[in-house]
Amino acid sequence: MNTELAARLAEVERRYPVKVNEYCGALAERSAAVAKLYLPDPRELEEAGLSSDGLAEQAQSPVPKLIRRYVDRAVVLTTTECFVRCRFCFRKRLWADGAACFHLSSDELSAICSFLDGHHEVTDILLSGGDPLVLGDDRLLEIARKIRAAGGVETIRICSRAPAVQPERITEHLVSELAKIDGLWFVTHFDHPEELTPEAERACRLLVASGIPVLNQTVLLAGVNDDADTLRRLFKRLAALRVKPHYLFHIDPIEGVSHFATGIAKGLEILNEFRATLSSIATPAFAIDLPEGGGKVILAPDCRREDGAYRSSVYGTYIRHPLVDRNNGDASC
Ligand code: SF4
Repeated sequence: MNTELAARLAEVERRYPVKVNEYCGALAERSAAVAKLYLPDPRELEEAGLSSDGLAEQAQSPVPKLIRRYVDRAVVLTTTECFVRCRFCFRKRLWADGAACFHLSSDELSAICSFLDGHHEVTDILLSGGDPLVLGDDRLLEIARKIRAAGGVETIRICSRAPAVQPERITEHLVSELAKIDGLWFVTHFDHPEELTPEAERACRLLVASGIPVLNQTVLLAGVNDDADTLRRLFKRLAALRVKPHYLFHIDPIEGVSHFATGIAKGLEILNEFRATLSSIATPAFAIDLPEGGGKVILAPDCRREDGAYRSSVYGTYIRHPLVDRNNGDASC
């Protein structure tokens, strides 16, 4: 390695510290794609005019550690700690420059519950971070139970990379206690089929067997998983495990991650291939998150021609639908 590259890598590591646990380190040695999730890249210093908080999470935080962008949903930042540090993380600002980790305090939890008591229209809470599963069982369960009991909350989503990066954290005790919380969902985050090791699959099976609905979110990452075959393998296997591929996200407009951006055309091209080759139970929604807190936009390949014919996922030709025509319908696929 030349000295200039070494200096740039040292600067990347100073700005965004590397953290890889033993499990992911071993996995990264076996998988070049997985290694790219955790190894620093000099391009992380290319900021291209992007903000560290490009989704305006701080501006959309009515009380500390709660982000509210939509009427009915909000995110609670339970901690800034993680089992690993992913190079594509959209909350890099929380751990950049060696920032000290925080866990949600009891006072902050009380303030969030008070806010929810005053805003019954917020019914769906995402417990996020960082990774909520770095918290001990008792604290995680306390947070989940208190938030579930607050205001008009009906559903809670625990968003965690633990099944992918620290699968032994998914224990029978934790899962059986989480399953007792009415309306609780679990959201895993797998980006590549090589993350689905026997240990990771055991963790997914344990969650599913408990009755907790399990969704997965994936980030479309240039050079890691931006081809249909790789993602098809990932999504098929997740569906077989009864983990529903929920979202495929384009990378967010955040500084330090732009080298992972694929562009929208690539995502739509992959989704287009899936129309004929991947069941709907295995196909996620493709989404971008807009800057300035503008929220998610779901994108789909355009299957409707100007003359009102639709592209067949079986033949690739355009076919008219008589009842749609008769009613001047404008359904898109
Ligand atoms: S586990 Fe999640 S929050 Fe933590 S570094 Fe990875 S993407 Fe970011």
